[in-house]
Amino acid sequence: SVPLGYFGGIGGASRHGILIKGANYLEALTDLRTVVFDKTGTLTEGVFQVVEISPAKGYTERELLEIAASAEAHSPHPIAKSIREKYGKDVQDSALAGLLSYEEVRGQGIRASYNGQTVLVGKAELLEQVGISIPRLMVDKGPGTVVYISVDGGYVGQLTISDRVKADSPAAIARLNQMGMRTVMLTGDNQAVAKAVAEELAVSEYHSDLMPEDKVSWLETLSQAKRQGKIAFIGDGLNDAPVLTRADVGIAMGGLGSDAAIEAADVVIMDDQPSKLVEAIQIARYTKTIIW
Ligand code: ADP
Ligand code: MG
Repeated sequence: SVPLGYFGGIGGASRHGILIKGANYLEALTDLRTVVFDKTGTLTEGVFQVVEISPAKGYTERELLEIAASAEAHSPHPIAKSIREKYGKDVQDSALAGLLSYEEVRGQGIRASYNGQTVLVGKAELLEQVGISIPRLMVDKGPGTVVYISVDGGYVGQLTISDRVKADSPAAIARLNQMGMRTVMLTGDNQAVAKAVAEELAVSEYHSDLMPEDKVSWLETLSQAKRQGKIAFIGDGLNDAPVLTRADVGIAMGGLGSDAAIEAADVVIMDDQPSKLVEAIQIARYTKTIIW
């Protein structure tokens, strides 16, 4: 039969919804030893739900949600979407009325000017670094991402938001582990959530509470182990473009992924299923046996 060659391999992959941007990446996939995953939107659905609303004294649940949803009115982050959804459809109108300006604090949350007041919505650090002290409440809905909210320097409450592991993720990780890959999960999310997800998926290792630049450092640390062959990073892309560029094979989720991620990636998985990476490796290995 006619050898498929690398272009055959690329064509074959594309019929499985895997876009490979060059023959060198197909070759790199055959030599992969480490696969690094971003958590949110990659191993998890990235579809969050507000499961607990805990206003501080003097605020109702509705008031707390309105403040948070308004500050998050324009954020593309999955957490922002879940808060808007919980608040309801009228969020755009109220936000346009009260939201003067906002700024996305990378990997931490939102700083907004709402009704003439400064509103912070995000990680504990976002509030604590400007001297706002926050109570660490015991949450009873299991591990979730806690989003803290302040108005003009005063703590006004917190929301607990939870995500779900993708149905496809456990099998994908299991296969990669069987193939002898080192599977690593990196996340900006907290330790409790990271631990729960990492244990559910049986990844070889995980690192939590990371800023976007910490993910780049981890990638460099992991790639320094040169004996360990090539390294892939797979992410949904919000803030992940620098890591995608640094990996030997940068892989973006095409559905949830941001345009910047799809641009920066070497491989794009159209349907966002992590098991497509296993298929891509198999196609790459098969193509190589035909060429050599
Ligand atoms: P991941 O590494 O899991 O993809 P990100 O780097 O996007 O997560 O965000 C890290 C953390 O920063 C989130 O878990 C959340 O606590 C906080 N965060 C980021 N953006 C927002 C936002 N728009 N609103 C509230 N919290 C946010
Ligand atoms: Mg992310």
